[in-house]
Amino acid sequence: MKFLITGGLGFIGSNLIRFLLKKNKHEILNLDKITYASNTFSNKYFCSNKLYRFVKGDISNKSLLKDLLEDYRPDFIMNLAAESHVDRSIDKPDSFINTNIVGTFNLLSVSKDYWENLKGDKKNKFRFHHISTDEVFGSIDDKKLFTENSPYNPSSPYAASKASSDHLVRSWHKTYKFPILISNCSNNYGPYQFPEKLIPLVILNALRNRKIPIYGDGLQVRDWLYVEDHVKALYQIIMNGRIGETYNIGGNNQIKNIDIVNIICDYLDKELKGDEIISSSYRRLIYYVEDRPGHDICYGINAKKIKKELNWEPETIFETGIKKTINWYISNKFLYNS
Ligand code: NAD
Repeated sequence: MKFLITGGLGFIGSNLIRFLLKKNKHEILNLDKITYASNTFSNKYFCSNKLYRFVKGDISNKSLLKDLLEDYRPDFIMNLAAESHVDRSIDKPDSFINTNIVGTFNLLSVSKDYWENLKGDKKNKFRFHHISTDEVFGSIDDKKLFTENSPYNPSSPYAASKASSDHLVRSWHKTYKFPILISNCSNNYGPYQFPEKLIPLVILNALRNRKIPIYGDGLQVRDWLYVEDHVKALYQIIMNGRIGETYNIGGNNQIKNIDIVNIICDYLDKELKGDEIISSSYRRLIYYVEDRPGHDICYGINAKKIKKELNWEPETIFETGIKKTINWYISNKFLYNS
């Protein structure tokens, strides 16, 4: 199959491309703007593979998109290009509106024109998969879980921009019969994540002997999904998902933020014993800062639909995933500027 992946140098996109290239049977065109969040070192590695092509560009650029689609003629489009950090969306929402809403709209419009001109089997198998977040549902009571039918109730500008893009994508199916798929996943963790998000930030701050900030009381609950499990779910959805459907993807790992931070500190205490900078537990670096405005208390995912329909469920328990992630950052901390 010919995949057009947008945002393929980001955290999830680069893990997805690694996964697809290992299959050694799909062609990949990666369109990425290369923002601060991109891991360009992944691109150097991908470019040595004949099945891979890279184009630096913006999903808002309609004429570029039109040329790319006409030239490359993809079977699948997977939209992972986004501004993705909630804190940045609070400080400066503009790029979130431009990429997540206007960019997705432009990509949808051009993709629909391309699809309408396809013929026969090529037209029947075409799919547009939009990757989204559980944050569109807002906060939930800690005994409940989001289903695909939960009402949208976004809190941050990031979540609102993703909610808008989901609505646009869904409407393109209802209005034009455009063959879309949507997935809403929980917090991902694993290798290649830019260290502004909780887990890599805590690991790298600890390794650099820097303070570890915790928002509010640290009791916010998130569901954590190992990124390699997530990309397997995305593959199942694009290959076998039902047109027009939405799938929730979760890790069955609801954990409080403060517990995550303590788990990381305790693991580093054991793993780096003997390192000269350690005099006491890494927990000494933790300090509390004023809570993020509009901070949701709890997210939780019900992922029964994807299990039932596509036989996907997460394989990685948190204990294993977090060890792999910490070890990866220990070995690769040189990739991220200090
Ligand atoms: P990321 O921030 O790590 O990477 C995003 C990538 O998109 C970057 O390489 C960036 O250069 C690219 N990009 C940004 N604007 C672009 C534009 N206008 N045109 C082309 N490329 C552009 O994000 P991620 O964590 O990999 O997230 C991927 C998708 O998954 C996003 O849609 C995000 O909302 C969603 N998601 C992420 C998580 C998570 O925990 N990381 C959870 C739920 C949903």
